[in-house]
Amino acid sequence: MKRYDVLIVGAGHAGAQAAISLRHGGFDGSIAIFGDEPEFPYERPPLSKEYLAGEKSFEKILIRPPSYWEDQSIDLILSARIDTVNPAANIVVTADAKQYEYGHLIWATGGAPRRLNCSGHDLVGVHTVRTRADVDRLRAELEDVRTAVVIGGGYIGLESAAALRKLGKNVILLEALNRVLARVAGEPLSRFYEDEHRAHGVDIRLGIGIECIEGNDKVTGVRTITGQTIECEMVIVGIGIVPAVGPLLAAGAAGGNGVLVDAQCRTSLPAVFAVGDCALHHNSYGQDGPIRLESIQNANDQAVIAAKSILGEAVLYNSVPWFWSNQYDLRLQTVGLSTGYDKVIIRGNPENHSFSTIYLRDGYVIALDCVNATKDYAHGRRLVTDHMRVDPELLSNTSIALKSFADR
Ligand SMILES: Cc1cc2nc3c(=O)[nH]c(=O)nc-3n(C[C@H](O)[C@H](O)[C@H](O)COP(=O)(O)OP(=O)(O)OC[C@H]3O[C@@H](n4cnc5c(N)ncnc54)[C@H](O)[C@@H]3O)c2cc1C
Repeated sequence: MKRYDVLIVGAGHAGAQAAISLRHGGFDGSIAIFGDEPEFPYERPPLSKEYLAGEKSFEKILIRPPSYWEDQSIDLILSARIDTVNPAANIVVTADAKQYEYGHLIWATGGAPRRLNCSGHDLVGVHTVRTRADVDRLRAELEDVRTAVVIGGGYIGLESAAALRKLGKNVILLEALNRVLARVAGEPLSRFYEDEHRAHGVDIRLGIGIECIEGNDKVTGVRTITGQTIECEMVIVGIGIVPAVGPLLAAGAAGGNGVLVDAQCRTSLPAVFAVGDCALHHNSYGQDGPIRLESIQNANDQAVIAAKSILGEAVLYNSVPWFWSNQYDLRLQTVGLSTGYDKVIIRGNPENHSFSTIYLRDGYVIALDCVNATKDYAHGRRLVTDHMRVDPELLSNTSIALKSFADR
C-alpha cells in the first residue's frame, strides 16, 4: 500500500494551499492531493464572474501552472474520490477501492451545491455554479437561452445574474426571503444591490418560493408557490452548499454542518485536520458557536495553519474574515462578520456608487461592506481587528479618513 506523509483530500483552494505551504515551510516528506474533479487546482471565484461571462480562459484561473506540482514533488491524483477514512489504521479508501496510508490527513473537500428537492430539479437546463464542469455545461447551452431564472439572491446568484446580463440574456432572479444578501449583509446593502440589478435589467422578485421546475426532459419554466409559471430555457440554482464531510463524520469525527476543528485546524480524529469551507470552527470575529466560512481568505489561512501545525509550529487561527464580490462596475470588499450588529452606518453616498456600510455592536466596529471604496476597506480593517469603539457620527463623516481613527 502506498503511503504519504501528508495526504490531502480535495484539490481546491484549501487543499492546494496546504501543499504549497508545507513545501514553502521546508517540509520534505511525501505529499499527495486527491481531487475528485479532473482539473488541476483552480480558482473558484471567477466561475460566477469572468469565466461565466467568457472573459477569462481556464488556464488563467489555475492556482499554479501544471508544472508546479511535479516540480514540488506533490502527487496530484485527480478524478479520485476518497469515500472512506479509517482513522485507527491511518488509511483512506478511494471510490474504486484503492487504499492509501497517511501520516497526516488534511480534509479540504469544500461542499456540494445544495439542490432543490422539488420535481424537475434534475431537468436538463437546471444548473449550479460550483465547478468548472458546471460552468462549461451551462455555457454550452447559453446560445439557445433567451431567459434564465436565477434561484437565490446570495453572492453566487447575484454574480451569475450580472454575468448573464452582460451576455444579453433576460434574467429573473427569485429570492425566498424579503431581500437579497439577507444572510450576509444589512438591509441598506441589500437594497442597494437590488436597485443596481434592476437598473441593469434584472427582474428581481422577493419573497418567492418555488413549487417546481417545469418541463419534460428540458426545463421550460419555474412554477412559484403562488401558482405562477415563469417561462425560461435555463435555471441557475444558487442556494448554498452542503459541506462534503460524510466520510469523516462516518469515521467518528465530531461535527454536523461541517467537521469541527480547533484553532490549529485539528479534528477530533488523531492526525486529521480539516480546512476551508468544510471546517466548522470557533471564529474570534463570530458571535456565538462554531461557524463555517465560505471564502478564499478562510480556505487559504486555515490551510496555512494546518501546514504549520504539521511542521510543528504552535500557531492558532485568528484571521479577520474578508471577502469580495464583483458585479457590474461594483467591487464589494467586506471585512469582519456583521452577524449580531445593532447599528449600521452609511458612509458616503450609495448614489455615487462609492460608499461603505459600517456595522457596530455595543459601540464597537465589527464589520464593513465597502462598495468601490478601497480606502475605507483598507483603513477600516484595523477598526475591526483592534476592536475599536468610534463615535457613529464621526464614522459617517467622509471628510475624516477611517485611518485617523485607527491611528489614535
Ligand atoms: C462560483 C463561486 C464564486 C465564489 N466567489 C468568491 C469570491 O468572490 N470571494 C471569496 O472569498 N470566495 C468566493 N467563493 C468561495 C470560495 O471559492 C470557497 O470558499 C473556496 O473555494 C473554498 O475552498 P475549499 O478548498 O475549502 O473548497 P473547494 O474550493 O470547493 O475545493 C474542494 C475540492 O474537494 C473536492 N472533493 C470533495 N469531496 C471530495 C472527496 N471525497 N474526495 C476527493 N475530492 C473531493 C471538490 O470536488 C473540490 O474540488 C466562491 C465560490 C464559488 C463556487
